[in-house]
Amino acid sequence: MPATTRVDPLSYLTDQLNELKDKGTYFHLRVLDDEQAPVCTFDGKKVINLASNNYLGLTTHPKLREAALEATRKYGVGSGAVRTIAGTMKIHMQLEEKIARFKDVEACVVFQSGFAANAGTVSAVLGKDDFIISDKLNHASIIDGARLSRAKILVFEHKDIGDAESKLASIKDQPGKKLLISDGVFSMDGDIGPLPALCDLAEKYGAIMMVDDAHASGVLGRNGRGTIDHFKVHGRVDIQVGTLSKAIGALGGYVCGSRDLIEFLYHRARPFLFSTSHPPSVAATCIAAFEVLEQEPGRIDKLWENTRFWKKELGLLGFDIGGKTTPASETPITPIIIGDGKLTMDFSRELFKEGVMGTGIAFPTVPEGKARIRTIMTATHAREELDEALATLKKVGKRMGILN
Ligand SMILES: *Cc1c(COP(=O)(O)O)cnc(C)c1O
Repeated sequence: MPATTRVDPLSYLTDQLNELKDKGTYFHLRVLDDEQAPVCTFDGKKVINLASNNYLGLTTHPKLREAALEATRKYGVGSGAVRTIAGTMKIHMQLEEKIARFKDVEACVVFQSGFAANAGTVSAVLGKDDFIISDKLNHASIIDGARLSRAKILVFEHKDIGDAESKLASIKDQPGKKLLISDGVFSMDGDIGPLPALCDLAEKYGAIMMVDDAHASGVLGRNGRGTIDHFKVHGRVDIQVGTLSKAIGALGGYVCGSRDLIEFLYHRARPFLFSTSHPPSVAATCIAAFEVLEQEPGRIDKLWENTRFWKKELGLLGFDIGGKTTPASETPITPIIIGDGKLTMDFSRELFKEGVMGTGIAFPTVPEGKARIRTIMTATHAREELDEALATLKKVGKRMGILN
């Protein structure tokens, strides 16, 4: 049969894309021409960047750059194997020891990403007779890990301790293991998980306590040690996950906990066993980043100073920055809640034309009717850049009827 008459078996995907186009939530990837920085060039246009997770500006820090180059010169560009075969380099071990000391835990294992850390860990520590009790707004990688584990998933209302307790109580006589899990900082709303109360519940019901601190690492706690340090619940969280891809500025994820937890993950976490480890440059970059966290605490102070200014000014302009129909942000993540998905995407596009990069986020990443522009402050935004971004948000917001 000639190729031209073959029916495309993937044509249903085209249909689904057309549906997105009709709804107005179809997007093109914006392409960054230069560095990930507060002012940078996407698709040939210079914009003030409010969309990155580069909290501390480490993506372009000279010490990190130099560390990556030096490691490449010394050790080459790749590790050549998965960790358990031949791909564990000394620099991988050094990074893990560095993180374990920073977090004051027995041991740490690094994964290729935060996503792999969550999905790989949850699916390794639980099995089909077990239970995972998970906040409704937890990250997708936790949900995927839970699905892979085949454990029963009990979702509690966002930060609702009463609901979490009733879920735990409903299975208290079941023999399976229970894993209580929350994000430390919720990525779409910027609110902080209620760790002390969750730890109380985990202790009361004999559950394993796990926290995903992707957006808290480098942001909250002493020198950016995360929510466990912020709430002083040291020793009460059995499994701490963090990312090396956000404030740390490079790529990767890690799990911190007891020596045996980490040894177990060496033997059973599938991304660890079946996917190649980081290039030495990435490990070296991350080691340098943790040094910067300890040596340059002023970056975190500046991040919070910018965050306070930004939230105050955005609120004064009259935007809904959360706290009404959505959780109130307590961190550098500040959503501008618009509601309608299409209006949000149009707003984002108009802002871009005027020189502000704020990514629109709609269903399914956030609930239907809660679409938003998610802005994220960094330590490296200058006051003049923020003033200019605010003026643009005001102008475009008024023009589009989002502001009165
Ligand atoms: C970003 C994020 C992850 C994934 O981290 P990556 O290193 O980007 O894979 C996991 N959990 C949460 C809460 C996140 O926000």
